[in-house]
Amino acid sequence: EDGRALLLSRIKDVPDYPKPGVMFKDITPLLADPKAFAALTETLVELAGQYGATKIVGLEARGFILAAPVAVQAGIGFVPVRKAGKLPGATLAQSYELEYGTAEIEVHAEDLAAGDRVMVIDDVLATGGTAEASLSLIRRAGAEVAGVAVLMELSFLPGRAKLAASLAGAPLDAL
Ligand code: IMP
Repeated sequence: EDGRALLLSRIKDVPDYPKPGVMFKDITPLLADPKAFAALTETLVELAGQYGATKIVGLEARGFILAAPVAVQAGIGFVPVRKAGKLPGATLAQSYELEYGTAEIEVHAEDLAAGDRVMVIDDVLATGGTAEASLSLIRRAGAEVAGVAVLMELSFLPGRAKLAASLAGAPLDAL
């Protein structure tokens, strides 16, 4: 419907970025349009309610931008999942496979606890590696995965299938 069309119209396809053959989904036009950004935030706040989320996790870096206003509007805490080496406190770390090599993400261990129902927010679900690693961090912290919401799912990649096992029945919504 209308909301979806507005969001789509504010996402720019950038060919051959960051390397040849990749079609990059650029969300900066959406962020620069206050109506579109507000519509996206409102939809995510609704989902947070449906999920019964008690914490919002944003994935570095664009996930931070999308998730922070959702946490404020929903009146629940925001927790950053960062690339390795950026968080000063005691962390849980999870590495995952990239096309070439591996990457590692971290969360402050004290930010998530048993009883938390966590909603994960990011801009793009591609291979699903980043989201899958974040779900394992959440579980290892003792918290529950309430659901994953992304602005875009690259449906020509098997991200959704890759995530299925670690979602364990929790919803994955692509707007
Ligand atoms: P995945 O781990 O392969 O699913 O990649 C997802 C991560 O890479 C997310 O944190 C995205 O922000 C980023 N990403 C992958 N493709 C794109 C894109 O086309 N535009 C913006 N970010 C992307």
